[in-house]
Amino acid sequence: MLYELFREKPLVVAGPCSAETPEQLYQTILKIKAENPNIELFRAGIWKPRTRPNSFEGVGQVGLDWFLDIKKELNLKTTVEVATPQHVEQALKKEVDILWIGARSSVNPFTVQEIADALKGTNVPVMVKNPINPDLALWIGAIERIMGAGIEQVAAIHRGFSYYGKGKYRNEPMWQIALDFKGQFPKIPLIGDPSHIAGKRELLLELAQRMMDLRYDGLMIETHIDPQNAWSDAAQQLTPTDLKLLLSQVQVRKETFDDDFYTNKLRQMREQIDLIDQEIVNHLAKRTELIRQIGIYKQENNVAIFQPKRWNEIKQTRPNWGKAQNLESDFILMLYKLIHDESIRLQTEENSEGSIEGNN
Ligand code: PEP
Ligand code: MN
Repeated sequence: MLYELFREKPLVVAGPCSAETPEQLYQTILKIKAENPNIELFRAGIWKPRTRPNSFEGVGQVGLDWFLDIKKELNLKTTVEVATPQHVEQALKKEVDILWIGARSSVNPFTVQEIADALKGTNVPVMVKNPINPDLALWIGAIERIMGAGIEQVAAIHRGFSYYGKGKYRNEPMWQIALDFKGQFPKIPLIGDPSHIAGKRELLLELAQRMMDLRYDGLMIETHIDPQNAWSDAAQQLTPTDLKLLLSQVQVRKETFDDDFYTNKLRQMREQIDLIDQEIVNHLAKRTELIRQIGIYKQENNVAIFQPKRWNEIKQTRPNWGKAQNLESDFILMLYKLIHDESIRLQTEENSEGSIEGNN
């Protein structure tokens, strides 16, 4: 049911953030289908977990009837978010094909377990969004609970992670978490939700492209007949026509290229990378040896490990050296913070009776 939809790669799940009225839901889906005939799976939030009270919290159960009528008339598949055992029961009664667990539910093992218990014996496919906090084990745990209920078809949805303050995105993508998930569970399809990462439609294309470049298996994109006037997530939804435009712009690159010349050249370049990586590691080892010696030397002379002046000097010079070589200074700074943390750890170990911080 869910897995067969991935034959059309990438799987696209479209539909409004929330079902608002029968008309809004029908017009949205009709137009998405007219503009994008390949889309087979449609989303709509029926129960909406909102951060603050007094926001629109979804139309509730009645929306399932609207969705069912549309599903039958247009012959399509539907998915809704469930957050309680009652939601599961009601959604299945109204023939929803696939369920998804939202980020505010996957964060709570009690909630996920209750949903899993309600799913026992159904074998309905379930998509699990990453929890709102950046915790890979919690995401995996939620999927394990669902699979533990005998659900055979599960997918993961990467919707980014919340953080305090304002940044480019509504939710930080933290790509590495999604990639670690993919690395550990290569057989579980990974769907990207650029809408909730972006928070604004202008950023959707670059995010969707990035997801395709990282070989995600699908995209869930919030789409509304009249995004400006949507009752939830107005800034991030696309019109069905803009969805079509976005999908035509996203390039899906080949998984691999079975050509001798290509394979040989790639192998040669990777061999060079291997040699360079060996040099990097050898140099790090030499640097580490010096750090140990400095730690001992400071201890012998009763000098504090942490020397702010020296760290400031490193912080300023290295990113500039990088810049001169066309490397992002932020990247070099991050790299040196990591190296510095390790120096602190080593020198503290060498000098366990000395100051608690290290420097080099
Ligand atoms: C949604 O998909 O509309 C939603 C509420 O998403 P999330 O759980 O990712 O916040
Ligand atoms: Mn939404």
